[in-house]
Amino acid sequence: MLTANSNSDSPVIEIQGLHKAYGDLEVLKGVSMTAPRGHVVSLIGSSGSGKSTLLRCANLLEDSQQGEILFEGEPIHWKGTGLHRRPADRKQVLRIRTNLSMVFQQFNLWAHMTILENVMEAPVTVLGRPKADVEAAARGYLDKVGIGDKCDVYPAQMSGGQQQRAAIARALCMEPKALLFDEPTSALDPELEQEVVKVIKALAEEGRTMIIVTHDMRLANDVSDHVVFLHKGLIEEEGAPSALFSNPKTERLQQFLSATV
Ligand code: ADP
Ligand code: MG
Repeated sequence: MLTANSNSDSPVIEIQGLHKAYGDLEVLKGVSMTAPRGHVVSLIGSSGSGKSTLLRCANLLEDSQQGEILFEGEPIHWKGTGLHRRPADRKQVLRIRTNLSMVFQQFNLWAHMTILENVMEAPVTVLGRPKADVEAAARGYLDKVGIGDKCDVYPAQMSGGQQQRAAIARALCMEPKALLFDEPTSALDPELEQEVVKVIKALAEEGRTMIIVTHDMRLANDVSDHVVFLHKGLIEEEGAPSALFSNPKTERLQQFLSATV
């Protein structure tokens, strides 16, 4: 069901001319990016180029000083300007944040909770959904990512690849409008990386809207509709993966790609 504010034709996320600084350090210098519904956008670039910051700004985990962020066509309401700019409406922030689920490099599972409890926590406590419904959904998502037998296990008893798949199930259980991944495979050994890549590919095939920050150029090439190359807080080049990876136009992207292969 669409709410009054949502618009199914609008991109799930649209960022226009975003500026973000930490003190004197300008990290994003006017970045525009769109995640249309059902599309996968990958964000690539060297360490420190601002990829995580952009993702965190999109999710309103970080403030930004200038530029617009729209969720399903609905602009974030701001109060104040520049360094004093903050979201004006806490309910709007919560609604948007819960609709853009993040998956982090380090999984960020609760160590003292079982896997099932981890997956159920936010839908029950943040969204107030009925426990029995959430449990059924959580078990379904854990099955979907291939660890349906791990419900009663604690994170420390699982491999990194299994923990990351649990984190993906947790994100899915929020039933978000988009998934935001920040280097989801960077903490994993190569053989465990592939089991997470497989899950991400399956989600892409389902038509989920995703933004994926990744150092894995093969993943970016295989799953993305659009790839954005960030360099020092600006988009240096962007386009379809086939064009970007086989025919990079800027010298910086050429250098970046030859260094990462
Ligand atoms: P990436 O994810 O592309 O590696 P980040 O977005 O993490 O880059 O960081 C971009 C720049 O912002 C880096 O120079 C980093 O040191 C700086 N930075 C990131 N987070 C903070 C923070 N909380 N406080 C100060 N500087 C930060
Ligand atoms: Mg990062």
